[in-house]
Amino acid sequence: MAYTVPKLKDFSTSTLTMAFVDLKSAFQTETALPNSEAEWKQFRDRWLARKNGILTQINGLWLKAAPKEAKSEVGKLVNDVKRFVEQEFAKDRDWAIAASSLAQTFQRIDISLPGICRPIGAEHPVLRASREMCAVFQRMGYSIAEGPVVETDYYNFEALNFPPNHPARDTQDTLFIAGQQSKPQRERLLLRTHTSPVQIRTMEKLPPPIRIVIPGVVHRNDPPDASHSPMFHQIEGLAVDTNITFGDLKGTLDHAMKEFFGSSVKTSFRPSFFPFTEPSAELYISCFICGGSGRRGSDPCRPCKQTGWIEALGCGMVDPNVFEFVKDNGYDPKKVSGFAFGMGVDRVALLKYGVDDLQLFFQGDVRFLQQWA
Ligand SMILES: [Zn+2]
Repeated sequence: MAYTVPKLKDFSTSTLTMAFVDLKSAFQTETALPNSEAEWKQFRDRWLARKNGILTQINGLWLKAAPKEAKSEVGKLVNDVKRFVEQEFAKDRDWAIAASSLAQTFQRIDISLPGICRPIGAEHPVLRASREMCAVFQRMGYSIAEGPVVETDYYNFEALNFPPNHPARDTQDTLFIAGQQSKPQRERLLLRTHTSPVQIRTMEKLPPPIRIVIPGVVHRNDPPDASHSPMFHQIEGLAVDTNITFGDLKGTLDHAMKEFFGSSVKTSFRPSFFPFTEPSAELYISCFICGGSGRRGSDPCRPCKQTGWIEALGCGMVDPNVFEFVKDNGYDPKKVSGFAFGMGVDRVALLKYGVDDLQLFFQGDVRFLQQWA
C-alpha cells in the first residue's frame, strides 16, 4: 500500500522518531519502483510537488499542528528530511541513473559477503635499516630526536659553523625554496641537506648531558643514479657531557658497527674534515662481504672496491664554535665536550641487504619490496 502521511496522535520524541523512520523508509522503498521516465516524474511529484506533495503535507500535518513546545524539534526533523529528499533528487537528471543510484544508496550491507582482504605490507628496507641502527643506539641509552625537513639557513648551515659564503656550503648542493630573496639569509628556507640541524634544535631545548640519534629524510640536488638520489636518509648522533673524549667516540661507534654489521667487523678511523666537528674522522669498517680480503673467490669484491674496507660514516668531536650558538642553554665549550656522527642509511641498507641499485628503494616496485616481507 502506498504511503500516506499520517496525523500524529501526540508529539512525544518516540512518536516523532517512529513517524520519521516510516517516512524515510517509504521514500527508500519508492525509489526502486519507477520503470520509466513518466513513472519517475510521478514519483518526483508525489514527494516534491508544492501542492500536496509529501514534503508539503508533513509541513502542514506535522509542523503546523505541533504544539508550541514541540515546534523546534519537529521543525528540525522536517528540515532534515526535506534536505535529504531534495538532495537525492538533485543528484542526477537522467531518471534511470538517478533511480539506480538511489537504489544503491539504500542497499543494505550484506554482512554474509566475504570481506576485502588487504595484503599485509612489509617494512621498507631503508626504514628497517634506520630502525635497526637507531635500536643499537637506544640500547646504549640514546633517545630519538626529530626535526623539520624544511629548514632555515640558520639551522642547516650557520649554527653548524658554516658561515655565509663558506666554501663548504658548495659541497652540499642545496635545494632552496624559491622566492625568498627579500629575507635575510639566515631566515631563508631550504630542504635540509643533513639531519644535523636537529642537533642544534635539541641543544636549544635540552640542557646537557644529552645522547640522541636523529633519523630522517634529507635532500640534495644530486641527479638520480645507482648510488645517488635527490632524496635520501641519514642517521645523525650526538653525545654531549663533561669529559667526553675521542676515546668515547671510538668505543661507541666500534660497538655500534659490530652490533649492526656483525661482531667480526673491525673499525678504522681516518682523518677528515667537517665544519661542525674538530677533529673529524671517517669511520671505515672491514668489508663484511669478503671478510676484508678484497676478493670473493676468484672475483674482485665490488662493494669494497677490493680494498677490504668500506666507508661507513663521518664523525668527530663537536667544534667549540657550534657550542657557542647554544651557550646560553648550558653548553659552555669550556665545560662540556661531545662527539657527533652521521651516516647515509640508504648506502648502509644497500650494503647490508646486498642491493646494487639505490633507485630500487624508491621506485615502489612490489616485486622488489616483497623480498623484505
Ligand atoms: Zn669486500
